[in-house]
Amino acid sequence: MLHRSLPGFIEVICGSMFSGKTEELVRRVRRAQYGRQKVQVFKPAVDNRYSDDHVQSHDANKILSTPVKTAWEIVERVDDNTRVVGIDEIQFFDDSIVEVCNKLAYRGIHVVAAGLDMDFQGQPFGPIPKLLAIAEHVTKLQAVCVVCGMPATRSQRLVGGDGVVAVGATEMYEARCRFHHEPHVFQDQKPTGLKSKVQSKVLEANGISEASV
Ligand code: ADP
Ligand code: MG
Repeated sequence: MLHRSLPGFIEVICGSMFSGKTEELVRRVRRAQYGRQKVQVFKPAVDNRYSDDHVQSHDANKILSTPVKTAWEIVERVDDNTRVVGIDEIQFFDDSIVEVCNKLAYRGIHVVAAGLDMDFQGQPFGPIPKLLAIAEHVTKLQAVCVVCGMPATRSQRLVGGDGVVAVGATEMYEARCRFHHEPHVFQDQKPTGLKSKVQSKVLEANGISEASV
């Protein structure tokens, strides 16, 4: 059903892992619920890190959600009286999620989509660039770099694996700033004692010899 009288729109929440995307999604969706708006939350079936039927942050903040296998399944499952649709881990969908979000917005729905802007190699992730382009509102969040404490924009993969998608949390990734992000080095495959180029540069800049650390 088309709700032409209601203005629909798309909000995207993006950022690195641990930047608080899911927390923010949950917050926005909860606010809508206080306003007695019917809300539905979806996530790709591939993300079952914590639970099959909840969207959950690293902080254990969670809300009921429906896992879906494809983006179009969302359109099929949204009820006529739903006003707000939350979608988490949006980077795991293919490009059709862009058309799906547009379709929902034209139906008068407020879409809140959250996902990683970059993969662990620092490359734009899946459909995110297109979604950012068509969204009315974009929020880019940052975590805290675990090496230096500065704002982190990137996700460091700590263990090796094949492919860009390796769903995992704390034990597999950590938040890093641009300076400390090492896109091509899995930390578990780094020869012990060998400093990365960035670490060597930091030591050199501070007049510290590598052998002494
Ligand atoms: P995202 O969905 O972006 O991965 P979450 O909303 O699931 O993030 O979790 C954010 C929470 O992760 C923070 O509130 C904090 O409790 C926790 N956290 C763990 N590591 C970090 C970090 N390096 N920087 C910031 N927050 C972190
Ligand atoms: Mg999340």
